[in-house]
Amino acid sequence: MGLQMNWQPNLLHQKRKNGPPLGLKNLGNTCYLNSVLQCLTYTPPLANFCLKNQHSSLCDSWSEADRKRDCPFCILEKRIARSLSVNLSLDSPSKIQNCLRIFAEHFRPNRQEDAHEFLRYVIDACHNTCLRLKKLQQQRCKGAESYSNGGGCGETVVKEIFGGALQSQVKCLSCGNESNKTDEIMDISLDLFHSNSLKEAMQKFFQPEVLDGSNKYNCDKCKKLVAARKQMSVLQAPNILVIQLKRFEGIFGGKIDRAIAFEEILVLSSYMCKASQVTCCLKAVKRRLKECKKEDSGNIVDKEKQKNSCGYKDYR
Ligand SMILES: [Zn+2]
Ligand SMILES: [Zn+2]
Repeated sequence: MGLQMNWQPNLLHQKRKNGPPLGLKNLGNTCYLNSVLQCLTYTPPLANFCLKNQHSSLCDSWSEADRKRDCPFCILEKRIARSLSVNLSLDSPSKIQNCLRIFAEHFRPNRQEDAHEFLRYVIDACHNTCLRLKKLQQQRCKGAESYSNGGGCGETVVKEIFGGALQSQVKCLSCGNESNKTDEIMDISLDLFHSNSLKEAMQKFFQPEVLDGSNKYNCDKCKKLVAARKQMSVLQAPNILVIQLKRFEGIFGGKIDRAIAFEEILVLSSYMCKASQVTCCLKAVKRRLKECKKEDSGNIVDKEKQKNSCGYKDYR
């Protein structure tokens, strides 16, 4: 289907082209909700998708004869499109607040909730809705391979935007045998411990760890407990990388409220697993070439920085 990664100015209200984002009122403990909505609204590929009603035009929630089914993706699409297309400075997120349960059953209005948890529920609810629609579509046109929304069976636009993969590798320090495990991710949660910046927290997350002493590793080849090195790396970088900073220190620890510095560009190349580094750079070059063909040179420096070395630009 092809994601549109850059803003489409023709879809935005004049006010949003150059002005600040639409403000969202705090309806009483809704700061977690507002911050998640603002992040999602300013995720260009998702915003473009919503502004073009690409979900609701395929959704079955409007076609049901008796009563419309409340669909989480339709609600989110409406909210995001509204935020980017109304001529207002301030708006109320009351619709979402009133149907919190559609996203997360145990969430209650006016109660303090966790922003990251809410984001996970919203993303999962939209992903599952897409999977349900896809299945329905496939049943309707059995045999025909006409449904083009996404690639493989578990692919959806949500996964295409936020999905990536990490590789966890354990290497035996006796025989050198490597064991790799792949985990699909929609975000990365970073411990802050003694980190003062995003970069430091990332370095700690991807730092190799030696399994030794009471923590030895059972090697398949050596057939005994051995010392080993465990390392995480990025196997597939998501188009949009979501990072959660874990600001709570354990169960009894307080909130880590010190400022965490971050640079505008986050370079992932040193965290990529070796096999992915080549494809990642190739992808970046290919994307870059496409962009050069399409656009004037206006934004190029910015985009160059954004795409170079699989770097991420911050959209918060
Ligand atoms: Zn829907
Ligand atoms: Zn071994």
